[in-house]
Amino acid sequence: MDKQEIIRWLKCEDEAELEQLWQKADQIRERHVGKSVHLRGLLEISNICARDCHYCGIRTGNDGLERYRMPEDEIVACAHEGKDYRYGTVVLQAGEDYGITREWMAALIRRIKKETGLAVTLSLGERSDEDLVAWKEAGADRYLLRFETSNRELYDRIHPPLKGTHVDRQALLLRLREIGYEIGSGVMIGIPGQTYDDLAEDILTFSRLDLDMIGVGPYIPHHDTPLGTDDEALKAPEGEQVPNTEAMTYKVIALARIACPDANIPSTTALATLNTATGRELGLSRGANIVMPNLTPRKYRAMYEIYPAKACIDETAADCRACMQRRIISIGRDVGAGRGDSPNRSKEKAA
Ligand code: SAM
Repeated sequence: MDKQEIIRWLKCEDEAELEQLWQKADQIRERHVGKSVHLRGLLEISNICARDCHYCGIRTGNDGLERYRMPEDEIVACAHEGKDYRYGTVVLQAGEDYGITREWMAALIRRIKKETGLAVTLSLGERSDEDLVAWKEAGADRYLLRFETSNRELYDRIHPPLKGTHVDRQALLLRLREIGYEIGSGVMIGIPGQTYDDLAEDILTFSRLDLDMIGVGPYIPHHDTPLGTDDEALKAPEGEQVPNTEAMTYKVIALARIACPDANIPSTTALATLNTATGRELGLSRGANIVMPNLTPRKYRAMYEIYPAKACIDETAADCRACMQRRIISIGRDVGAGRGDSPNRSKEKAA
């Protein structure tokens, strides 16, 4: 697909035509990654963040938020719970929290690997090369780092640098692959200032980076952030601004599947937040093959408020497990066994 074709799909409103897009993405998903939906237990281990991202509710400038960092034993206990639920992976996500030191994290990864054998995915932001190498050596398998938007000017505007240094997230993703991680990335859809051209470029970038995992979700305004105002001046010109809608999210999931047939693609919580009734299922029927049930203890969930009214905030880990299974089975799919490694990466290794 070239950029013009992607833009045409992103702008398409014709239900019958879109039905063809959903079907094509679903067929490619079935052929390349199969029927199984893999479960990744998501653990939000800290909401402490050094960054001041203009879109995110846990940004450092948000003083209204109570902060937490989960203790090691509690994280390991949650990983065991994930293993009991037969999740193949635990995803350790946090704000960019430099209280999470290289040594502490390495010891935690070693313990989780030794005690549970689960695949470990990290999503801890822009960390030093030494940290990333040490965590790989400790046994981490995958790293998630969204580049958020491929429009560099927009990205720099909404993601202020730390101590004046802009990190190129796309270059960092390539470095993560070199270190040996499976790499995951993605974007928010409908960021104020994001154009159709930008979003089409994002999809082409997924393919260029040859991502093993692609996570996309709608941008959801948070009232305590600079982007979360109704300021029209932040938006792209009329007709060019991408809407942050459910429909646009399905289009990006489907186009990402067509552009990257072997990638693991989750049906995200942000999508489920826009449509709690059927968002997850529709995402899975239009190209996605992964869900990430929340394993975070309930007492912390409301504090990890990256955007308001996040889906599943009042549920327990057990509720999330049961709910995901029911949704997967309701659409004629099955829950995947094992780690759910990226077929993209296995094919690359075999070659
Ligand atoms: N600190 C790590 C990082 O920056 O990669 C991981 C945590 S960060 C909260 C995880 C993701 O949340 C971001 O990559 C961003 O895409 C998403 N996010 C943050 N604020 C959001 C918002 N208002 N709407 C939708 N997604 C948001």
